[in-house]
Amino acid sequence: MFQAFLIKYGEIGIKGKNRYLFEDALVAQIRHALKGVEGTFQVTKEQGRIYVEAEGSFDYEEAVESMGRVFGIVGICPVVILEDEGFERLAEEVVTYLKEHYGDCKKTFKVHAKRAKKTYPKESMEINAELGGRILEQFPEMKVDVHHPELMLYVEIRERIYLYSEIIPGLGGMPVGTNGKSMLLLSGGIDSPVAGYMVAKRGVKIDAVYFHAPPYTSERAKQKVVDLAAKVARYAGPVYLYVVNFTDIQLYIYEKCPHDELTIIMRRYMMRIAERIAQKTGCLGLITGESIGQVASQTVQSLAATNEVCTMPVFRPLIAFDKEDIVTISKKIDTYETSIQPFEDCCTIFVAKHPVTKPNINVIKRSETKLEEKIDAMVDEAIETAELIVVG
Ligand code: ATP
Ligand code: MG
Repeated sequence: MFQAFLIKYGEIGIKGKNRYLFEDALVAQIRHALKGVEGTFQVTKEQGRIYVEAEGSFDYEEAVESMGRVFGIVGICPVVILEDEGFERLAEEVVTYLKEHYGDCKKTFKVHAKRAKKTYPKESMEINAELGGRILEQFPEMKVDVHHPELMLYVEIRERIYLYSEIIPGLGGMPVGTNGKSMLLLSGGIDSPVAGYMVAKRGVKIDAVYFHAPPYTSERAKQKVVDLAAKVARYAGPVYLYVVNFTDIQLYIYEKCPHDELTIIMRRYMMRIAERIAQKTGCLGLITGESIGQVASQTVQSLAATNEVCTMPVFRPLIAFDKEDIVTISKKIDTYETSIQPFEDCCTIFVAKHPVTKPNINVIKRSETKLEEKIDAMVDEAIETAELIVVG
């Protein structure tokens, strides 16, 4: 029944010069989201508004669902667009609209007119009153309620006239592409896909890196990470996933360093490698799924030791979240079922029985000197041989 949508987006932080960047990115993201949807769509920007118009038939449900995954959209309003053919005609169209969408109307209502076209012969208040009167005449069971109406009918008078009464909530956030790019350390767990989603929601484009340790981790574990990247890509757009072979480095650390420090040292090498790839691909930050106290490698001391090797900012959006709250988001974004598939993560292979929980950075650095002979070449090689998989 609807052929078009009015897209509402947040206004905060997009004043002045940045506004068109925000809007252009949002238009691009909406076009991208609609690519897979049955139908042909025109996405246009007019006077601080974004409209999506379908040419001919299209899959309504799928279109709404796809736009519901675009960051930056606050509301999706199915809208009827009319040419301005005089007030009488508008009043008739309003009646038809209510009949079509609400059938035997028994609701309380309010008309909310907005006259953006100042040459229109009636003012907003007059339009409200006259259309309200017409609705009462046609639908005797409807009542006006200006404070808490069940049905709010928006009438926007611009070059054309827009009628809508439903605002489907969007995700909010900012369109991907308005805040640079960052490198997500993506494992097969529950946390890191959620962390990537959250940072992408702030407009950040996501690259990802996965540390793979064949044969200790299986092809299936790698596929799980590719699947998770695809789930994140449904919101964040295409993800460039770098799969780093980490086996030799892990074995070398295992051979040379105290076993209770393995996890921390390994985490430090992950961060170093992630940062090097991030620099090459134009990322401005790193993203992890770490949360204070979740495991031994995420105590405040461990986080400090891990962080120490990076010069780029490390974004940890889950830092103060309880696991339960992370799980709630992972279910909402549909990564949970994939994350809980039981495939070995490279970190669980080499874990010590009693890992240090309060690592001393100087002690860790001393242990790392034992790696000096070969580690730089190994890191270079891991970066050079990383496999790139474009997902989404
Ligand atoms: P997750 O659920 O995200 O796997 P976790 O609770 O298992 O997290 P850790 O294994 O300590 O926690 O990992 C902490 C963070 O380090 C992860 O959130 C992720 O960002 C990164 N990470 C861990 N293992 C890998 C890996 N194999 N490849 C890429 N990043 C990883
Ligand atoms: Mg993990």
